[in-house]
Amino acid sequence: MRITDQTEFNRVNVFGQGQENAAFARYFIGTSYLNPLTQPGQCPLALSNVTFEPGCRNNWHIHRAKTGGGQILICTAGEGWYQEEGKAPVSLEPGMVITIPANVKHWHGAKKDSWFAHIAFAVPGTETANEWLEPVDDAAYGALE
Ligand code: MN
Repeated sequence: MRITDQTEFNRVNVFGQGQENAAFARYFIGTSYLNPLTQPGQCPLALSNVTFEPGCRNNWHIHRAKTGGGQILICTAGEGWYQEEGKAPVSLEPGMVITIPANVKHWHGAKKDSWFAHIAFAVPGTETANEWLEPVDDAAYGALE
């Protein structure tokens, strides 16, 4: 369900909005928010609920790894998009799980007319690093329905 009203969205964003994602803002168009769900030192996996305002998406990027690696997205509220380079965008709704392979160029974010949230975590691997690339083209994103 697409949700444009922030108050309505906050009621269904059950993993919480958290704070503005300032540290990664340069890799996003629009405003995103980060709510850590695990404590460093208590759990080897860092899970965070990431909330995107309508129109917000991250730049094309690659989760690099020598072995293992990649990223898992668990869609939690609103509606969004996930796209791998050269493939059609995938519409995201709560309850969907996206497994992003290591070393594959992709982006994820909200639809232009809906708030969106997913839990994200990095799959453990060796020699892991995030490579941030160009923004998603405005016209291509705007054409997504
Ligand atoms: Mn990613």
